[in-house]
Parts: sequence; structure tokens; C-alpha cells
Amino acid sequence: MAVPEDPPVRVRIAPSPTGFAHLGTASTALYNVLFARQTAGTFVLRIDDTDMERNRPEYEALIYESLRWLALDWDEGPDKGGPHAPYRQSERVDIYREEAARLIKEGHAYRCYCTPEELEAERRQAQAEKRAYKYSRRCLTNPPEGRSVFAVRFQVPGGEIRFTDMVRGEMRFDADLIGDFIIVKSDGYPTYQFASPVDDARMEITHVIRGEEHLSNTPYQLMLVDALGYPRPQAYAHMPLILARDGAKMSKRKHPELNLAIYREQGYLPEALLNYLALLGWNPGTEQEIFSFDELLQSFSFDRVQHGGARFDWEKLNWINGEYIRRLSDDELARRVQPFVSQLDADTIRRAVPALKTRLHKLADAVGYLDYLWTDPPAPSLDEETSLRVRAAADALKPVAWEPEPIESALEKAVLESGVSKGRFYNPLRDVLTGKKVALPIHYAFALLPKDKALSRLERAA
Ligand code: GLU
Repeated sequence: MAVPEDPPVRVRIAPSPTGFAHLGTASTALYNVLFARQTAGTFVLRIDDTDMERNRPEYEALIYESLRWLALDWDEGPDKGGPHAPYRQSERVDIYREEAARLIKEGHAYRCYCTPEELEAERRQAQAEKRAYKYSRRCLTNPPEGRSVFAVRFQVPGGEIRFTDMVRGEMRFDADLIGDFIIVKSDGYPTYQFASPVDDARMEITHVIRGEEHLSNTPYQLMLVDALGYPRPQAYAHMPLILARDGAKMSKRKHPELNLAIYREQGYLPEALLNYLALLGWNPGTEQEIFSFDELLQSFSFDRVQHGGARFDWEKLNWINGEYIRRLSDDELARRVQPFVSQLDADTIRRAVPALKTRLHKLADAVGYLDYLWTDPPAPSLDEETSLRVRAAADALKPVAWEPEPIESALEKAVLESGVSKGRFYNPLRDVLTGKKVALPIHYAFALLPKDKALSRLERAA
């Protein structure tokens, strides 16, 4: 039993609803949920929707849907409420404006009236002089007169920023390298860099667990937390990036595996995907690869999370998924396969399951194994010798009871009588029956099709 920490652990994810639900969101959510459940803490879902041009409510709906599918349930969130509502950043804009006004008043931030062209000129100048660019602080020291459009910039105090990362240990950043950055844009909306630490502080988040791409944001956010006078989160954990198989960075456009919907569509079991995601960035230190959620709760710890990027490997995912499929009861597998083969009645699906179980890597594979039951395959043209064997098979099957075992023994007898190998005998039968090179064991393939249909396919071909 997890015992609550003092102060109680509060973690969060803050996905942005700007596209399909992302694999990285599932992975980050998993680590947050594991830590929250291990510490009897609270898991908050915050919707980071301050990018007014790219947010869509339907993308937000996809985030909820995919997290629910994975059973990564949150304790507080836009749809659930909670003590720090609202949990959508677009509904918290007044809070950010107040906090920015406070920073200005206390001398930690200032209005910047520079135009994009002026800033670009500064940047180019720095480039020409071969120095790293930092904003010149012109609007702090000598603001232009008579302008009304402004952004708000944070006045970076500089110095060294240190924090504890549960994955990487003690981290240090040199804030002297960081220029004064924008916290409120000229349209009045906060930047991510500002809204995120304000919310983390006000929502009393104790541990920030997120992707490695945010590691370099942490010093920015800590300086803001300090300037606002809030206590810092106790610790951070920056989880490895999920990379393509070849180690390249993945992009939403080129890598469909980033889209969570495809796992559901192809019939990955949510519990198998979680198992895979856990192992993607974390190493249990043993040979064990199959972990139930409860076993993950027992075993997971941040000190065994790898530092480098994690390469996505379909083969391993397929293997894990196949293992989970084989561990399902026949009734449960039938229930899960049903939506993929809705052309079939429940009884046929149930009879197919024992054979399917040994073959499936993912539930959608069932379609390829079973579609011969609802579509007639094209009749192959057979040479004379093969035709005779197909006819012999038809004759052998005519009198048998239509069940896998009697079919199997009748076929085995026919193989012996034919004098050819099992493979030579069965391959054309499989082809005639299913139109496929790969199919269920042949006696199952026959038994699942009504007897008259199966025999007429053989006879037609012979
Ligand atoms: N909206 C950010 C993202 O989805 C949140 C990052 C964070 O957790 O601070 O990457």
C-alpha cells in the first residue's frame, strides 16, 4: 500500500490539443500515474491550450479518449474539476496577466515595445559579430516613446540555476547565457514558458515529470517561480525522448507511430502498449519483460530510467502484444476481436479464437485470417495433378463431422494416400479455401467455413 508523502505528491501532464493524441503524451502520462499511485498522490490533467491558432476542441477530446482507453485516469482536470480549477489554460488568462503585472510592479519584468523587425536586426547583428544572441534590454534601459503594442519580458537575474532531476541527478544551468525572454505576447496571451510554471506553482505540483525536450526549459521556469515567490517543485524528471528505430527524431508528419489512435485501430491491447511504453524508457534490471500494471507499480523507479533517447521498436511491441493476447481467456479474446470482424457472428468468432490466439500479433490481424469467411477468394488455376489431389481432399472430407479434429484426421489420411508431402498437399488446399499463403491451421480454416461452402470451393477449383 502506498503511503502519502508529506506534503502530498501532486503531479501533472499538460498536453496541448493541437493535433492527434500523441504517443509521448501516453508515455509521460504513464510515468506520472505510476509515481502518483506509488506515493498515494494526485494526478492532474491540465490542458495547455494557449496556442489560440492551433487548438481545437476535437483534439482535446482525443486526449481524453486515448488516456481513458489506456486507463490512465486523472484525479483533477477540465472535465472533473478540482481545487485548482479551471484546468484549461485558456480559461486562466487573467491569472497569467495578474502574475505578469505583479512581476512588472516588483521589477522582475518589463514591457518591450520592440518590433519583430528591430529584434531581427539585433539578432543579425549578433550573428555578424559571432556572439550568442541575447536581447539587448533596450526597452528596459531606453524604451522607445509613443508606442502602444508591447510584449512583457522577464528580466533574467542570471547566475547558476540548480535543481534535482530524478533521472539525471543534480542539474546546473548557467542563466547568464539566457536573455530576457517574453512571458506575455503582444496579443495578451502568455507563452508556454510562463503559463506552465505559474500553473505548476498555483496547482501545488510537487514533481514535474515530462519529456526530455523540456529539460532546457526548466531553468527558465525556475527563475520565474523564484521571482514570483512561490516554492519550487521538489524535483523534476525528464524522461527520454522516443526516437525512430534508426535513432532519428520522429515527426508527426513522417511517423504515424506517434499517433495514439493507430494502436487502438490496429488492435494493440492498451495494457500491452503501457507495458511496452514502460520498457521503452525504463529498464527493470532483470530479464522480466511482461509487467502487469500492478507489477509496474511495484518495480518502477526513476533511477532506472535511461538518459539517452529510446528507440521505438515495432517488433518488440508486436511481441509483447502477442504475449498479452495469448494470456487472454478465449471468451475475452473473442470479445476484443469482435469489433474487427463485425461481419461474423459471435459463435464463429468464438470458434476461431483458439486458432487465432496462436497467430495474432495484434487484433486487426484477425481480418486477414478470417476474411475468407465472408469473401469468396478467386479460384486459382491448378495443374492436373494438383486438381486430382484437391478432389481427393473433397472426397475425403465429405463424410466427416465438421469439426477441427475429424477434419484433421481425414486430411492426414488423404495426405498419406496421395504419397506427397503435407506441404504439397495442403498448400493448394489453403489457397483454394482462403486465397492466402498464410492462414489458420488448415483443419480450423475448414471447420470455420460452413461445410457446403468449403466443399464447393474445393470442387469448383478441381
Ligand atoms: N504542453 C507541453 C507539451 O505538451 C507541456 C510541457 C510540460 O509538461 O511542461 O509538451
